[in-house]
Amino acid sequence: MENNENIYELFGSMVFDDAVMQEMLSPETYAQVTKTKEEGVPLTREVADEVAHAMKDWAMAKGVTHFAHWFQPMTGVTAEKHDSFIAPAGKDKIIMEFSGKELIKSEPDASSFPSGGLRSTFEARGYTAWDPTANAFIKNGILCIPTIFCSYNGMALDKKTPLMRSLETLNTQALRVLHAMGHTEVKRVTTTVGPEQEYFLIDRKVAAKRPDLTYTGRTLIGAMPPKGQELDDHYFGVVKSRISEYMKDLDRELWKLGILAKTKHNEAAPAQHELAPIFSAGNIAADHNQLTMELMKKIAEKHSMKCLLHEKPFAGVNGSGKHDNWSIGTDTGINLLKPGKTPHDNLEFLVFFCGVIQAVDEYQDLLRMTVATAGNDHRLGAAEAPPAIISVFLGDELTEVLESIRDGSDYQNRKREIMETGGVDALPNFTKDTTDRNRTSPFAFTGNKFEFRMPGSSLSVSGPNFILNTAVAEVLSGYADILEKRGDTPLDKAVYALLQAVLKKHFRIIFNGNNYAEEWVVEAEKRGLSNRRSTPEALLALTEEKNLALLEKHHILTREESHSRYEINLDNYSKVINIEALTLLEMIRRSVIPAVDRYICQLSETAVHKKKAAASASCTMEKALIERLSKGVSALYIDTEELETLVHSAKEIEDKQEQASFYCEKVLPMMNDIRKVSDEMETYTPKDLWPFPSYGELLFSIQE
Ligand code: ADP
Ligand code: MG
Repeated sequence: MENNENIYELFGSMVFDDAVMQEMLSPETYAQVTKTKEEGVPLTREVADEVAHAMKDWAMAKGVTHFAHWFQPMTGVTAEKHDSFIAPAGKDKIIMEFSGKELIKSEPDASSFPSGGLRSTFEARGYTAWDPTANAFIKNGILCIPTIFCSYNGMALDKKTPLMRSLETLNTQALRVLHAMGHTEVKRVTTTVGPEQEYFLIDRKVAAKRPDLTYTGRTLIGAMPPKGQELDDHYFGVVKSRISEYMKDLDRELWKLGILAKTKHNEAAPAQHELAPIFSAGNIAADHNQLTMELMKKIAEKHSMKCLLHEKPFAGVNGSGKHDNWSIGTDTGINLLKPGKTPHDNLEFLVFFCGVIQAVDEYQDLLRMTVATAGNDHRLGAAEAPPAIISVFLGDELTEVLESIRDGSDYQNRKREIMETGGVDALPNFTKDTTDRNRTSPFAFTGNKFEFRMPGSSLSVSGPNFILNTAVAEVLSGYADILEKRGDTPLDKAVYALLQAVLKKHFRIIFNGNNYAEEWVVEAEKRGLSNRRSTPEALLALTEEKNLALLEKHHILTREESHSRYEINLDNYSKVINIEALTLLEMIRRSVIPAVDRYICQLSETAVHKKKAAASASCTMEKALIERLSKGVSALYIDTEELETLVHSAKEIEDKQEQASFYCEKVLPMMNDIRKVSDEMETYTPKDLWPFPSYGELLFSIQE
């Protein structure tokens, strides 16, 4: 960073934000836009026109000539279609134009984005619609308008639409609860989200020599290097200067976009790092995380590195996750998941806290579904990330508080007091949880927020968050029904009774122990918690009546939309494994087998030469090695033939669920078998003959 650069000016300099709008729009228009942002009031065409003109003037002053509707289709990456501001103005003349109409709506040819049957290719029209709650920004010299993406008949084709819908329903139900509890001053409730992002950085030249990294983002073969992460010397270790330059550059670019990049450090595995932003509103955080991932990759290229966002780029080394820190807050500045100082403050806290616990228990399958991808399957349950079983960590103190409510018993000898006040003061007093954090929990309460730790590193946080928001909204709507009709019952008594009933039913989801332990799997089964190990199994949640009904009831996804997502995700899973299998086939057939054969040939020649030179020379080593390697290449040959047959069979299966299961149960294990043999061959083949950079060269590719 230039020394005298003004950070205050840099921050948000590429964002058409509130300050810019206030400066460039008429007071009436600015007021209208603010109302739209805060209360969701639709904009008139006149207002949109004025905003569009201001956006264009602002962008052109920064040298921008093009705009794009920026959206998040179901592919998982972001998409944009560029248009210029240019318009003809009489003979040989042009003007630069951007109208409210162009701002509000665009019709990209949607036929090649996944729609899961919602829109057949001949009905290619889909449209993007401006989301005025998110600021427009300039990226790569293009004015980007954040939009949602729908089919012509209004079906959601993107990740943002259900998230926006879920924020609305959560707001409605949370307000009902708060109002029923007397907090009529609260006008809006939103989620706050801070996604921690893990990633790997590898030297680009080294990475480019691995077809598997190029095509699939992960290594499909590769023997463990002598040193992995066992010394724990990478975690929070000194950052290498090349990495540090990268991180500085990244921060700078993120700040320009108004993204609050805050913490950065080395992670557990060699070459692994993490970036955490300061939390922001749920929909903004999702947009910002998508932009962060995009910039991470782009800036890595600039620094001659490759940024890997895959969940498991290297076997035997920690994979990358994305911790979704999530809370609920009011427009009056209250974090509803932060324990208060007095029992009375704790009333709201306990209601929302228990609401989340109940929601996670009731909709554990849906939540599990949101993190199901081919990449994440390698991570969940591999003793580095939580298993596929959802449970909630609360820490000892809060668990005891909830136990006392459930059992109607005293907390910290307050029984007498409670009896004296006739239950009015029945809710125990406690302060912020001080217990150690449990790093193995998939869903942990960390003092003032929950941290969902199952999402994989490349996932959009929209998925987990829209489900979480909706499930919590559903539970809160039940609470509101009860609290609104409590009649003469004092509020704390009504709350106490409500929470007692909730806790009697949902305590099974609370688990403070080691989630990586074998015993937990057994214990969880006893508790009736679900454990859907693979993606095909987990995705079934999107076909189950209870879940479809929930999403339909809260207008998040129609049944048709749910079904389309189920199909898109299944299809994506099968496609990913298909590409991996084909890549592995190519690497083994065209590079590994020939390399090992070359070595066998060398060994044979050596043996012959040895014998020629000295008849008594021993060739035991050469013979043994030749035998071992020949056995290996034969196995590789047979297994790759088999893998090819399996891939062909998979392609023939028409039923999508069956097809995904086939990839999971047949193709993946065969790939693992091949890998095992190949990795053994690697350890016996000379470095100069092995066709690919080793794990050691990849993981320690950045030394200075
Ligand atoms: P760690 O989990 O690594 O100990 P921190 O306590 O620094 O990390 O927080 C991790 C993330 O949680 C950060 O992105 C931070 O902004 C976010 N966070 C903190 N408070 C909240 C909140 N109330 N709502 C949502 N996210 C939050
Ligand atoms: Mg964390």
